[in-house]
Amino acid sequence: MKKRILIINTGGTLSSVDSGQGLSPGLSSREILEEIRMVSKELELETEDFCSLDSANIFPDDWAALAERIGQACRDYEGIVLIHGTDTLAYTASMLSFMLQNVPVPVVLTGSQLSISHPVADAMENCRCAIHMAASGCAGVFAAFNRKVMLGCRTTKVRSMSFDAFESTNYPNVAEISALGLHIHRELLPKKKGVFRVQPGYSDRVFLLKLYPGIDPGILEVLRKQGYKGVYIEGFGLGGMPFVKRDFASAVREAVEEGMTVLAGSQCPYEGSNLSVYETGLLALKGGVLQGFDMTAEAAVAKLMWVLGQTGKPDEIRDYFQIDLVREVDIP
Ligand code: ASP
Repeated sequence: MKKRILIINTGGTLSSVDSGQGLSPGLSSREILEEIRMVSKELELETEDFCSLDSANIFPDDWAALAERIGQACRDYEGIVLIHGTDTLAYTASMLSFMLQNVPVPVVLTGSQLSISHPVADAMENCRCAIHMAASGCAGVFAAFNRKVMLGCRTTKVRSMSFDAFESTNYPNVAEISALGLHIHRELLPKKKGVFRVQPGYSDRVFLLKLYPGIDPGILEVLRKQGYKGVYIEGFGLGGMPFVKRDFASAVREAVEEGMTVLAGSQCPYEGSNLSVYETGLLALKGGVLQGFDMTAEAAVAKLMWVLGQTGKPDEIRDYFQIDLVREVDIP
């Protein structure tokens, strides 16, 4: 029996047409399928349209609805491909990794830098890679792009135009296409840790703050007054925060005392944070910040949103950041 793969379309460049007012998503999943069918004759492909949006317009409620739909679909299909704009694909891939923990089938996000109707597009290649990963039987949430497959929660968009637009940050690619075909490194796949159930809860009262020299610590109070419950701070280097001329570290402590969850990571994309090395980190740690370690910013924001959607209790929130849920973080 042929394996059944469901392709869910959300839009992005892969399905785009020139509307006369700039590129915008336009092709339906049926039209996309016409192009793809030729390359996957041994599989039974079905498509459905979830939405047709530039991914700048994908919002957290779309993540929750997608998670619910995928949760149903994985009873009927051996694998799922999600066509998505590349700009926010890493956020969606990260959030779906948390919402769909222990998913029993492969869920593979892909997109392209050129529309599938363009004669020299990367779209077909990316779809082919995503479809074959979806048919691999390797469960988990992944992103396929430019002949490589990455864990969804480690994916970052690093180039705005080249075909090699994504990389797997602080974690190796889980599969590559080469003369060996699709070669999957099984030891790198996420481990099943429990029963699967869709966990679509999230809080959108989360802020992403990048430090820069001279930043006014008062911003944390502004956020609190605006009702934000969590902030992910990208600190300097290993995660340091200033405390001499303007005392950001004390502002962080006060924010934590007021009930805000403060997660701190690094502005450096590689190798992650460790706040226990410098005084600039230790002060913040003593003030109660949680550590992001080597998570991508996308995974850190998604994890913070997701965790705050599961619990409001400070101890439980802290526990979630002391464990690796889906291989999103390497805790030293
Ligand atoms: N702006 C597009 C999007 O994210 C870019 C792409 O798909 O490559 O929807």
